[in-house]
Parts: sequence; C-alpha cells; structure tokens
Amino acid sequence: MDIMKEVVNLCKNRGIIFQNSQIYGGLASTWDYGPLGVELKNNIKKVWWKFFIHNREDMVGLDSAILMHPRVWEASGHVKNFHDPLVDCKKCKERFRADHLIENILGISTAGMKNEELNQIIQNNQNIKCPTCGAKDFTTIRFFNLMFKTYQGPVEEAANIVYLRPETAQGIFINFKSVLNSSRKKIPFGVGQIGKAFRNEITPGNFIFRTREFEQMEIEYFVEPGTEMEHLEHWVDYSMKFFTKILGIKDENLRKREHSKDELAHYSNRTIDIEYKFPFGWGELEGIASRTDFDLSNHSQHSNEDLIYFDEKKNKKYIPYVVEPSFGVDRTLLTVLVDAYTVEKLQDGTERVVLKLAPYIAPIQVAVFPLKKNEPRIVEVAKKILKSLIGDFNVIYDDTASIGKLYRRQDEIGTPYCITVDFQSLEDNTVTVRNRDTMKQERVSINSLKEFFTKSFSINLDI
Ligand code: ATP
Repeated sequence: MDIMKEVVNLCKNRGIIFQNSQIYGGLASTWDYGPLGVELKNNIKKVWWKFFIHNREDMVGLDSAILMHPRVWEASGHVKNFHDPLVDCKKCKERFRADHLIENILGISTAGMKNEELNQIIQNNQNIKCPTCGAKDFTTIRFFNLMFKTYQGPVEEAANIVYLRPETAQGIFINFKSVLNSSRKKIPFGVGQIGKAFRNEITPGNFIFRTREFEQMEIEYFVEPGTEMEHLEHWVDYSMKFFTKILGIKDENLRKREHSKDELAHYSNRTIDIEYKFPFGWGELEGIASRTDFDLSNHSQHSNEDLIYFDEKKNKKYIPYVVEPSFGVDRTLLTVLVDAYTVEKLQDGTERVVLKLAPYIAPIQVAVFPLKKNEPRIVEVAKKILKSLIGDFNVIYDDTASIGKLYRRQDEIGTPYCITVDFQSLEDNTVTVRNRDTMKQERVSINSLKEFFTKSFSINLDI
C-alpha cells in the first residue's frame, strides 16, 4: 500500500489539506489547511505550547514579526551563508539541489561533502541524469540564497529590501534583552515561539514535508557557556517524550541522528536531529542545535545593544550560549497523519481506515448521532447533548447516513468518540459511547458525559 498516496487522498477528500490556488491550476508545493486540517494543526500547536512553555517554569513565549531589519540577516550570517547548491539541466533547464540529486539517485549521504566533491559526482557518475528529461548535461554548482526578498514601502530600491524570515529564531535573539528585563528570568531559561517561516527551496516536495512557506515551533534556550551539552541532551530527551508520549508517535519510527563535524552549520558546535521514517525515507522532524554564542555575539557587535548577561549569583558577565530545539509544524502534522493511518481488517472481512490520533489532537473530539433522524424526541436529546458539550469539546452533529457509515467516516478522520442517541436514551437517560480504537460501545449517563470526556481528553504532562 502506498501510504503517502492514501494519506494525501484522505487529506484532500476529508478537508484536511487542499492544493493552494487550485481553481487557477495550483501554485506548486503550496498547501492550504481545510476545516479539519486547521483544527489538527491548531491542536498540535496547542499541545506543543502546553508541553514546552506552560509546563515549565524556565520558559516564556514570544510572537515576533515576520519582517525584521535587514541587518538582522547580515549579522546572523543568512545573507552570506543561507544558500543551497544548485545545478541546472542544460537541456530542459530544470533546476535541482545538487546534494538531493545525488542522494535520491545514488542513495548515499552527502553530509559534509565539499562543493568540488558534489560537482565531481554530478559530472562524472554516469547514473546521475536529469530526472525530468534524462539528459546528462549539468551546469557546475552555483549557490542560491534561500531567503525571499521584498521591499518595504512604495519604492523598490536596495535601501528598502526586507526579507521574509527563513526561521523564527532571530526574532527571539533580537528580543533577548527585552524578554530578560521584562520577565526577570534567570539563566538557564528559554523563549519559545510559533510562526511562519519562508525559504525559497529549490526542490520542495513530498507533500507538506518541504514547502516554501511553512510554520515552525522554535525554542532558544539560554545557558551558561560550558553547560550547553548537558542542556542539549536534556532537550533531545524532552523532545522525544513530546513525540512519543504526547503525540503518541511510534518509537520504532523515530531515531536520533547526530551531525558529523563537516555537516554542522557554521554556528553550531553540536546538532542532533530527530528523524521520522516517512514512507519516502528517513527525514528530519526536529533539529536540536547547540548554537554557541554565535547569534547573540553577532547581534551585540552589529546592533546598538550589548547582549551580555550578568549572573548575579556567580558575579560574572557573559554572552549566553544557546540550545535550539526547532520543530516544523507541518512536518509534525504529516508525521502524525502517517503514523496514525491504519487499515484494519474486520471480522466480517471488510476493512476500515482509522486515524489513531492522540485524542486531544483529533480535529473532532466527539460526534453525536441520532439513531433515527425523523424521530423528533431522539433528535431533541441529541441536539441537547451537542449544545451541552460544545463549549468544552470540539463536537459535531451528523445524521446524513446510517450509523455504521457515520462511524466509518469518523474513524477515518480520527474522532475518538461517537455518541448515539437511541430509543433507550428516551427511557433511561443514557447513550452509547463508541470508542474509535476498540470499537466497543458502552452506555453512559447523559449527565456524566462531560465528566467522561474531560477525563478522556486530559493530557498527562507529568512524564
Ligand atoms: P532540511 O535539511 O530538511 O532542509 P533544515 O536542516 O534546513 O531542514 P532547520 O533549519 O533545522 O531545517 O529547520 C528546523 C525545522 O523546520 C526542521 O526540522 C523542519 O521540521 C522545519 N523545516 C525546515 N525547512 C522546512 C521546509 N522547507 N518545509 C517544511 N518544514 C521545514
């Protein structure tokens, strides 16, 4: 079974993710989240915020602007260093990322390879041909800066250039002093933020895995120099807990991968990626980088502010080191979908598709059905239940098919519980509550539904 294809179809058919600008033929690698997708995405961001910000005394949040002073990106090294190696097929003019071309065709890692080495492989290896037209006629590698440029104000001139941020991180660094002074946090402490980032990727693809507009959930954790490695390891463990215990992703589909010395970004003295086994291969889900004092030092040098920290207890001044756990919202959502997608054979020989999502991230938490839609007494009770739960849970009402079909529809989008109001409900004030995973039905008193679901949807953060 081609899981990726199944998941993409499910997303399209059930209003999770749509091709952007579809009525104009679509804009390549750009996606919109539909009615169910936006719920799922918001829920992922909500549990992330709960686990990484609210659950910890050493964390605060921030929401900085996408546009920043252009000098931010000079100081951060992005103007000079944020580029990918690019080759063109001379015949069909298609562009490729040189490292991806080699990795996809030869199945080897290019981590740490120098430019000349990539060039040699592309020019000399007979198997490396243009995936689009089959020609073996590539230009030499050129570098392509990934930042989107635009102009602030009505005049399009160099002095007015601004960039769409390629990471949310810099918004945190430039606010370091303001956050420190206003929140009175002491090192070690961190700042988290969720927001859009933009990269003019040469080869986006694999659905929402790599796009040019995406969302990140990032933390910059400020520590005393020399202590960064223990903090890095802590964040790797804490992130693994988030994926396995909070999001319920299967252990065996996750791995940690340490960057080799040659592969490390210019600002990092150690980086560990958490990768997921996607249907198209292992891919980075989160990067946890020790960024040293690279960013704060550079902003100290290039801006009007000294980003030095005074440690009162130790009576010493230093520029903090930074550990950065950086997640992609869209990649996390794709991971959650792929990992939860299950096809089960039932006893009667039929199959059901079920999304086994953690209950608190499911787009719809409870669906209410009347057993008979033309029985006013049943409908009245069902609508009453809907109304009583709506403030606390994401609940829907559906009467557009038979109960069996309605169950299947909800299984497919991961709804953890379905309530059916039947004739017995009119007599004893109980309803059936069906569990998505076990398909077992139990009778629950209408008066205790709220309590039942509150328990079922609570998140255990103490792990
Ligand atoms: P990759 O090697 O896949 O290009 P990266 O190492 O450049 O990723 P980081 O700069 O570490 O990525 O970004 C942190 C996180 O942001 C990634 O782990 C990923 O989840 C997400 N991310 C980065 N680029 C994209 C993109 N183009 N589309 C979707 N998510 C992205």
